[in-house]
Amino acid sequence: MSNASEPCSLETLAVQAMGLTHAPHGDLIPPIHLSSTFERAGDGSYPGGRLYARDQSPAYDAVEALLTALEGGSGALLYPSGMAAATAVLQSLEPGRRLLVPRILYWALRHWMQAFAARWRIDLAWYDNGDLDSLADGLASAPTDLLWIETPANPTWDITDIRAAVDLAHAGQTLVVVDSTVATPVLTRPLELGADLVLHSATKYLNGHSDVIAGVLVTREDSPAWQCIRAARPLAGAILGPMESWLLLRGLRTLHLRVRQSCASAERIARILATDPRVAEVCYPGLPSHPGHAVAARQMRGGFGGMLSIRVAGGESQAWVVAARLRVFKRATSLGGVESLVEHRASIEGPGTPCPPDLLRLSVGIEAVEDLLADLDQALG
Ligand SMILES: *Cc1c(COP(=O)(O)O)cnc(C)c1O
Repeated sequence: MSNASEPCSLETLAVQAMGLTHAPHGDLIPPIHLSSTFERAGDGSYPGGRLYARDQSPAYDAVEALLTALEGGSGALLYPSGMAAATAVLQSLEPGRRLLVPRILYWALRHWMQAFAARWRIDLAWYDNGDLDSLADGLASAPTDLLWIETPANPTWDITDIRAAVDLAHAGQTLVVVDSTVATPVLTRPLELGADLVLHSATKYLNGHSDVIAGVLVTREDSPAWQCIRAARPLAGAILGPMESWLLLRGLRTLHLRVRQSCASAERIARILATDPRVAEVCYPGLPSHPGHAVAARQMRGGFGGMLSIRVAGGESQAWVVAARLRVFKRATSLGGVESLVEHRASIEGPGTPCPPDLLRLSVGIEAVEDLLADLDQALG
């Protein structure tokens, strides 16, 4: 493997997958490293520098280097899912510690945190998304070890001011983790705003083609918390397969193009639906009516993301009718792929969800926006 010699923009680094070429043929596309084990020399050393792929898979090198660069961090770790990345952070907490979490966050993680907190005797406290007073109260009421931020937050796209939250958290000894899955490093770089760790479900925009489940953590510095998380990965065995790593690097090549197109289409759809009487409310941080718009305009560069939700006039039953009539938008969970998806979110999240029952979540892909607009128009009836 050889490095690109020219210093490049992040976009060029991503498109060229770090600009690496590969010996002996000078391949521009990296090989898929399948070997689980590596040869040891007679003197006991490892001439290739690797012992076993659970600890040191060469399949991760380029992907982790690219994700470190894209987030402006000092190191990255791949995981076999976004959930595995998230739980790796939480399991690095000692039992009995305090965790401050937003009321609206990725639903499966909320569920897991509640069960984990009970078993691990974690003091789990909640704050209202986007509300710095509520966040400050949460931090002030007891010494807090970890602050969790998700922005924009699923599925209402509430925005939390990362820099302001970090200032509050770092006044104490609180580590700040940002789930930046929806923003992507194209729009927001949380480490530059002072966050300690960034988390992505790489299943979503980073891979972008709905054919890989993966997660990643990126750290600002080589802190004791990071060393603990890094040491645990090969022991817990939560590692990504080489094929998935390869597909993720391939997906990352088009990240900037895909995110820009999704943002442009989502913004156009949001503006048009915001004046449509068949839609009671559009949740999209790019609209001036969204409570997080001013912070999003500062914190997100070049777009407000490809995710929006609509609350259908006529309530839950009409929301189901609209979802059933959509043809270009596919009815499926997940987000951040090239194809547009619609989801009746409350029925996925189940009892106790804070998601309104008349809400449809739209993941806007990169199809012709006219087709997406026409599909929504016919489905709204
Ligand atoms: C999907 C998602 C996750 C979980 O990621 P998986 O790859 O599905 O495990 C976490 N956070 C957010 C915001 C997500 O959208």
